[in-house]
Amino acid sequence: MLLSKKGLLMKKNIILLAILLNIANLTTPNQEKLTDEFRDFEHTTSETIKEFYRLNHTCQTLDFVISQKQKYATFDRLKMSIWDAIALLDTIVDESDPDLSLSQSVHAFQTAEKLRKDGHPRWLILTGLIHDLGKVLVFFEEPQWAVVGDTFPVGCAYNNKVIFTSYFAHNPDINNPTLQTQYGIYPPNCGLENIHMSWGHDEYLYTVVKNYLPPQALYIIRYHSFYAAHKENAYDYLMNDYDTSMMQWLQLFSNYDLYSKNSEPINITELMPYYKELVTEYFPEIINW
Ligand code: FE
Ligand code: FE
Repeated sequence: MLLSKKGLLMKKNIILLAILLNIANLTTPNQEKLTDEFRDFEHTTSETIKEFYRLNHTCQTLDFVISQKQKYATFDRLKMSIWDAIALLDTIVDESDPDLSLSQSVHAFQTAEKLRKDGHPRWLILTGLIHDLGKVLVFFEEPQWAVVGDTFPVGCAYNNKVIFTSYFAHNPDINNPTLQTQYGIYPPNCGLENIHMSWGHDEYLYTVVKNYLPPQALYIIRYHSFYAAHKENAYDYLMNDYDTSMMQWLQLFSNYDLYSKNSEPINITELMPYYKELVTEYFPEIINW
């Protein structure tokens, strides 16, 4: 997708208008899934998802991750509010997700509302609302394999708990023996903050919002797609005590991220006053992306 900043803003306004016009229809179909039917990659027949992970595992090298971190450390691409970003996301289809056929904004509100109904703190409800906003990377011309999907450490051996491990055979890093020992370039238990994770919406949004949210919220945003860790308990040899103490938040959040995906219909118009106030409590009107 080739869009200038001006084109991007024009497109954004059109999207915003489309969303406003469709607010009456922003209720969700209620096809209930059993909990063990979520993230069922083994039985997925979707070639789109397989192709997505083939590309993701082939192209996410250590060098790629380091260059993406440098590229996005400038925060000079867009100035926009949290609400602009939510509107922008609605034009994105996440090719890695076997469960989500709803719009990204409905997923954002459903995740947040489920957390709110269960009486969780305001910062966690806000985390539910914004956790996927890093997917705006698609508008900066990033391919889907550099935006979505499960994340994993690069610079060390791939743990077999990462989905579709066989696709790593095509990653150039597999031919570099230093990057293929258990610890690779890292000291044992050095902590995830010292590890390069595959690049995507988690790491990007973490850098965008890191001055505004409490540490637990930032940890959830940064690692919510690291399923090998929070679902399969893999990579404990790279974690430190801080990671161990934070893992409960990732596990708790993951229940809301996944199992809210086909919950009750929501009326975003009615919810707006609450969420406007919540966003304003933590964020300035405009932030740098
Ligand atoms: Fe996500
Ligand atoms: Fe999500």
